[in-house]
Amino acid sequence: MADEAGYAEVALTSARQGGARQTYHYLIPDELRRDGIGIAVGHLVEVSFGTARAAGIVVELHDHSPVTRAKPLLSRLDPEPVVTPLQLSLAYWLSETTLTPLGACLALLIPAGIARSGDKLYTLLDFDLAVQPSGSTAGQVITLLHSRGPLRGAQIDRALPKTAWRPALNRYIEAGQISREPILNAPTVAARHARTVALAIAPDQVEATIASFKRAATSKRARILRYLADQSEPVETTELFAETQADSGALKRLADAGLVTIGSADTWRDPLRGREFVAAEAPILTPDQAAAWDLIGPSIHARQPEVFLLHGVTGSGKTEIYLRAIAEAIAQGRQAIALVPEIALVPQTVRRFTARFPERVALVHSELSVGEQFDTWRRARLGAFDLVIGARSALFTPLPDVGVIILDEEHDSSYKQTPPIPPPYYQARDVAMAMGRLFSAPVIFGSATPDLVTRWQAEQGLIRYVHLPDRVLAHRGQVEDQARRLNDQPSRYIAAETRDALYLPLPPVTVIDMRAELRDGNRSIFSRSLRTALTETLDRGEQALLYLNRRGTATVVMCRDCGYVARCPHCDMPLTYHDADGLLTCHSCNFRMEPPAHCPDCGSTRIRYFGLGTAKLEEVVAEEFPKARIARWDRDATREQGGHEAILTQFISGDANVLIGTQMIAKGLDLPRVTLVGIVLADTTLGLPDYRAGERAFQLLTQVAGRAGRSWRGGRAILQTYQPDHYAVQAAAGHDYHTFYARELRYRQELHYPPFTRLARLLFRDESLEKVQRVAEQAATQLQAIIAREGLSAQLVGPAPAFFAKTADIYRWQLLIKSDDPVSVLRHFNPAPETYVDIDPVDIL
Ligand code: ADP
Ligand code: ZN
Ligand code: ZN
Repeated sequence: MADEAGYAEVALTSARQGGARQTYHYLIPDELRRDGIGIAVGHLVEVSFGTARAAGIVVELHDHSPVTRAKPLLSRLDPEPVVTPLQLSLAYWLSETTLTPLGACLALLIPAGIARSGDKLYTLLDFDLAVQPSGSTAGQVITLLHSRGPLRGAQIDRALPKTAWRPALNRYIEAGQISREPILNAPTVAARHARTVALAIAPDQVEATIASFKRAATSKRARILRYLADQSEPVETTELFAETQADSGALKRLADAGLVTIGSADTWRDPLRGREFVAAEAPILTPDQAAAWDLIGPSIHARQPEVFLLHGVTGSGKTEIYLRAIAEAIAQGRQAIALVPEIALVPQTVRRFTARFPERVALVHSELSVGEQFDTWRRARLGAFDLVIGARSALFTPLPDVGVIILDEEHDSSYKQTPPIPPPYYQARDVAMAMGRLFSAPVIFGSATPDLVTRWQAEQGLIRYVHLPDRVLAHRGQVEDQARRLNDQPSRYIAAETRDALYLPLPPVTVIDMRAELRDGNRSIFSRSLRTALTETLDRGEQALLYLNRRGTATVVMCRDCGYVARCPHCDMPLTYHDADGLLTCHSCNFRMEPPAHCPDCGSTRIRYFGLGTAKLEEVVAEEFPKARIARWDRDATREQGGHEAILTQFISGDANVLIGTQMIAKGLDLPRVTLVGIVLADTTLGLPDYRAGERAFQLLTQVAGRAGRSWRGGRAILQTYQPDHYAVQAAAGHDYHTFYARELRYRQELHYPPFTRLARLLFRDESLEKVQRVAEQAATQLQAIIAREGLSAQLVGPAPAFFAKTADIYRWQLLIKSDDPVSVLRHFNPAPETYVDIDPVDIL
């Protein structure tokens, strides 16, 4: 117990900007020191800060305070520490490497909602003010306070959006007519019991069932059954117990008798559930997998903080290695974390994890409510989970003893937290490695197309490189199950060395030069090869994926006479035409408008829609391929048609035979009936002004092409492009990572880009162009001075408008720092508000 120390050093969880650390000292008052719990490191506390109240976490205890008159701590908000000592070390590391206040890093580790936020409460004291309300800003607030009683600042903000009402009140506060007091908002979450119960028999059988009970019809079990008979949906157990005065013993007897089913309120849905074979038992590893496991397994067993890059094409058997790794960590009495880029898009992967480890698994994904997040956090803290699957934030689940961390598709850009959401702008790969060191646990990065930097680190010996050969594996049970469903004979698989494993070669990829098609008089968006292939595929009763990385029916609306292009008035981005509502849409801020009938510049009526998006593609396919039954999967369709599941189900059940999609279809879907993948226009993925454009294009094209030929029927991919010689296109078509890597690495070296240096990006955002430019230029001047004064080796690029120079009425400028150690440059930097400091950015557009 910490009743010796007199002072607590506190990091405020609301801190957002202004460099590392930032902690404050508070006196621990006697009543908190001696209340039997005391104040310990990791406690969530309430403090006063300036004129406000705030929540913070105790990060250290001291006998003395560096400030002469430390204010007292106000209260302890939770009797248990909310972060573990290891998590605190992780937060220090995050704060130093991302130059983010310690409190903001700690805020990542606790669920949204438990750290209360500070606000002010405004109360009208002089009611005479409300007698003659004026239309002024102060008058509006007074009217509000008069009619609604005391209000918090956030409530007034909602009632008077975009109004600077706070300064207008000062006069009345000074005169004592309105009072302003600091308060902490109540936490927005509370523990939630997610277990649910539903009747397993028909409601009209309930009375007969109750009559058969040995004891009276007034028993707890009878009350439960009668209550459930009146419900149309499963009810939560807490509600059930409250309504019926029954208990879990009675409920369990009913469940054991099969009269009710107990479920969980988990919203996780999987369109493939029950449609496909999933091996719940670990298969015998193939010799290639066994060789990989011989490197990784002992490291988990020996608790080595080693990092592995598991490089293998999609289907080469990486997930099976992850499953072993998790089992091994659990066998050590430890826990595992498995990250996947976008959990909603990889139901099959998630289901394989949950089939192997059905108990004690938590899914952490963006669709969880605040209450569910809190519940997961609370249960993890109690040691209820062995395995956590989720997006990057799942790393911060409070597990007591992590034994392995896995990042599938480690190259995915969603592993980086990127502005403008609040900092820290961390890279999950780096956090995983730091955690590996703290927990003494191995980390596994898996990918078919490793990030260039990761692959290079492996070359430098910082990461251990493990390669699986380039061929597609399948489980015999899965193939036989598919064959039964499809009424077909599997023929093309090659039996592997082990009982359950079958092999298939990688699908061939044909590159089509669209310039040549045009020269031969083919103006269609379909080359002759793709047209023939699609017709044949549909004739055979098989399925096709068509990939186009662009939404809408047209990219630009252009005047043929003067070249005018319709642009978003808020973002300056070209607008996209959508057939569904006949409107032009901005994909940056969602602005919509009617397409112009006349050119606003020259009055011409010769307005043409150029370009091609997924909606237009759908139209063309419907027109030209009578056998096509189309499903479209992109963000627009997902919004309109009720989510991923609905669209996928339509395709998987065979109701649709052509799936048109954006990069969503590149993710981990394994669709056995797909024998053709058409990349309608590879060019939309190439050629953005970003040094990572080539790498991103290669990764995407490789992934999409890899969706073909996941079955014995074989398969192929056809890649249409106006740049057939582009190295990313060539390498993707040849499934050739190594050539791509060598070529891209040379380019990075020549132009001095990562991994040969590091980058930091300062992003400046403001509603005023003049201001954003001034702030950017001042930052550059300040940084030049720092570099000169400290004698650092660093190069500034810019400042300049970002590629997306304006989004939602906010102007964006940026400044890049190239340096081997950008943190040392930025440590001395004092950023203006609205400056986003992103170290090792993945996005510089
Ligand atoms: P990746 O993660 O590299 O995409 P997977 O681990 O998903 O590869 O393997 C592809 C398919 O092969 C899956 O259906 C999986 O069930 C199956 N599989 C993997 N390893 C084996 C094995 N040793 N024996 C039998 N089937 C296997
Ligand atoms: Zn015009
Ligand atoms: Zn816009």
